Amino acid sequence: STQIQLVRRPIGWPTAADFRTVTVELAPLAAGEVRVRNEFVSVDPYMRGRMNDARSYVAPYVLGETIQGGAVGRVIESAVESVPVGAAVLHQHGWSDVVQAEAATFRVVPEIPGVSLSLRLHMLGMTGLTAYAGLTAIAGLKPGETVFVSGAAGAVGTAVGQIARLLGAGRVVGSAGTAEKVALLTEKYGFDAAFNYRDGDVSGQLATAAPGGIDVFFDNVGGEQLGAALDAFNDGGRAALCGAISTYNSSEPVPGPSNLSNIVTRGLKLEGFTIGNYLGLAPEFQSLMTEWMGSGKITFDETIVDGIEHTVEAFLEMLRGANTGKMLVRVGE
Ligand code: NDP
Repeated sequence: STQIQLVRRPIGWPTAADFRTVTVELAPLAAGEVRVRNEFVSVDPYMRGRMNDARSYVAPYVLGETIQGGAVGRVIESAVESVPVGAAVLHQHGWSDVVQAEAATFRVVPEIPGVSLSLRLHMLGMTGLTAYAGLTAIAGLKPGETVFVSGAAGAVGTAVGQIARLLGAGRVVGSAGTAEKVALLTEKYGFDAAFNYRDGDVSGQLATAAPGGIDVFFDNVGGEQLGAALDAFNDGGRAALCGAISTYNSSEPVPGPSNLSNIVTRGLKLEGFTIGNYLGLAPEFQSLMTEWMGSGKITFDETIVDGIEHTVEAFLEMLRGANTGKMLVRVGE
């Protein structure tokens, strides 16, 4: 079995020297095991993250071990009846040509006539599910809304554009990094408009592509395009932050929050609000806070500046942080 292993953690862009290829003599099949010849092995952006020794939603790759990840293949030897020779299987054993392991680590997938097994690694697999979940459970796409997808010509992106349409999106726009991809989006994938983010002025291009603004942003890229989407959002817009690939290989902190990918890996939701939209909570808040104060459960600080003539000064001091607790101007007589 030929396997690819990580031997050094890349800094910035990975290089060949970060990996090694090994040939392993497989032991005779043990009870409970199957041997699979892979047909397709997946390479995914999230793998870059696993090459770092950092907290994420999946554990870092172990140096000197074969890179784990999605793959599909066919059973060539089996000690388990339910996973017979010839069966098509999906698994996570990753970057190798032949893999041998416990049968339970392989999932037998039904074969669909005329459909390549490889689809299990994208449209019919996690990739498609990612697109669907992002649009429905996370972004709550509603019929008629305008959707913007970054990384639109990639695996997830092409699923997003089409699923959005099927779910009734009114307008679907996407971005990609070459003129060919941009053409494909409108000509093959049914996008209403698309642009090349490498042409610059991403905000301007997005405004042209979505003149009525956007309601849902499915973000695969982060960085500048996330900024542009934040510009283009209509009120009440939702972003399904799926990935931030523009940052994955930067060895330097990127402008803005360098850890926006935590939104993905920690399943965070960042939702803006203005208190004017939540005034209905005032009565219950008032009664609770009054009770807490009365029973000594709340403490506070005030920093007081005397004299109305010192108000601007107090304001600026507050912006510089001179206050603890509430900055107040005491007017006096
Ligand atoms: P893609 O098929 O989209 O491949 C990656 C693409 O990213 C490239 O084709 C390239 O397209 C684009 N890209 C690379 N660098 C940049 C950059 N600096 N700025 C803009 N685009 C760039 O990969 P996937 O569909 O597998 O994944 C897409 C995104 O979804 C990734 O961010 C990934 O991490 C994320 N993901 C998240 C999941 C989740 O559960 N949250 C699950 C699966 C994927 P181009 O030519 O257009 O630049």
